[in-house]
Amino acid sequence: MVPGSLLVVGSIALDSVSTPFGETADALGGAAVFFSMAGAVLCPVQVVGVVGSDFPEEHLKKLASRGVDLAGVERQRGESFRWKARYSYDLNSRETLETRLGVFAQFQPRIPEKFRDARYVFLGNIDPELQLNVLDQVKQPKLVACDTMNYWIQGKKDLLLELLRHIDILMVNDSEARELSGDWNVYRAAHWILGRGPKMVVIKQGEHGALLVDPETTFKAPAYPLQEVFDPTGAGDAFAGGFMAYLARTGDLAFPNLRRAMIYGSAMGSLAVEAFGTQRLEQITLQEVHGRVKAFRDLIHFSLDGEA
Ligand code: AMP
Repeated sequence: MVPGSLLVVGSIALDSVSTPFGETADALGGAAVFFSMAGAVLCPVQVVGVVGSDFPEEHLKKLASRGVDLAGVERQRGESFRWKARYSYDLNSRETLETRLGVFAQFQPRIPEKFRDARYVFLGNIDPELQLNVLDQVKQPKLVACDTMNYWIQGKKDLLLELLRHIDILMVNDSEARELSGDWNVYRAAHWILGRGPKMVVIKQGEHGALLVDPETTFKAPAYPLQEVFDPTGAGDAFAGGFMAYLARTGDLAFPNLRRAMIYGSAMGSLAVEAFGTQRLEQITLQEVHGRVKAFRDLIHFSLDGEA
């Protein structure tokens, strides 16, 4: 099996996060980081992003040591993107305390020549205008998935709707799906989105799992029942990394394989939250990922009355 190339464009951040179990300051974070660390376990990942002059070289080395190709990471003069958040006691809600864009404010993704043949592309949560711009730079992707957030849904809805016509999968959380569609019901919201262009919609529902919806079918992956969760930051991006990397690794976009990819995504998300920031993903092995995927099968397998 020859894995297809997987490209991600998105934030590379210094995160300061506090949960009831501890806190971090200026730790390695950002959507492209969680995505690529998770994805790199399954296939080679190429990253495009920007960091400031204050971004520690050791942080980048952590990515490089996982085999992530950083040729598309620019270092610019100025402050790195910083994000500060605090989680509630049950870890279900979080408050963003500070977002300092720094060099990320002027980010203009430039896809290096050697990344332009990428077959699998993930457009992390950035300005939809820049996401469209990335699509102009890649040659012939087989699968394009994209994330967004409420800020862009409110501020740049027209461009976002334009983007939807050019992508295969929109991957958002339930509140974003509701806000984009104007419908509180996530299943109707998913079909509203399908009517705007994408072939599939993935709706992430945190501790309630994730949905894969296409015009004919719906598949639900549960969240893994963890007894210890330390830091939910980046779970959604690790999910996306696992999902896309599994598809890139296998090259199979048929529905049974898309369902498996949902479980690889869920496995990666569940592993990511077992430690602070990227700590767990920095150590993770392919064997552990396969093990978690098998545990998912046991979790949801059942037989009909009369079956073995
Ligand atoms: P998640 O928990 O999946 O929502 O991802 C959290 C990650 O997204 C953190 O590592 C942040 O650095 C990053 N992040 C937070 N706000 C933004 C933003 N406005 N744009 C891009 N990335 C962000």
